[in-house]
Amino acid sequence: MPLMLPTILKNLFTGYATRLYPVQVREPFDKARGHISFSEDKCTMCGVCALRCPSVAITVEKKQNKLTFYPFRCIVCEVCVHACPSEAIDLIFKWRPSSYDKPEEVYKSTRLEHLRETTDAAKDALASKEDK
Ligand code: SF4
Ligand code: SF4
Repeated sequence: MPLMLPTILKNLFTGYATRLYPVQVREPFDKARGHISFSEDKCTMCGVCALRCPSVAITVEKKQNKLTFYPFRCIVCEVCVHACPSEAIDLIFKWRPSSYDKPEEVYKSTRLEHLRETTDAAKDALASKEDK
């Protein structure tokens, strides 16, 4: 007991070793990996990120213009960030909030929509030219 006395006194007069999360949120460490985010205006739905992801955290359905990201499968390895040819994936240096469920994030490429509209307009213009 006398040997433990310093430790007991120290624990009595110092604060908690843990935080009252989520009331007290710890700021990320310097250079900590936070989470990834997709830019809908840069993505072309090429599917490279989904092919390269080791955690199967991304699925791409190009015809439906739909990229689904499963954040709680992601191990923030950054493979997709470096593999994306359009630089459409960013690493955010903030931790994702905790969650009771496993949310899915769905993205739609505005760039692909624009490309499709441009292609359709070009096809229509070509077709009307051939009709004349
Ligand atoms: S995020 Fe990048 S790699 Fe993934 S589908 Fe979009 S353009 Fe392709
Ligand atoms: S950071 Fe790694 S684990 Fe997360 S989605 Fe990208 S490739 Fe997959």
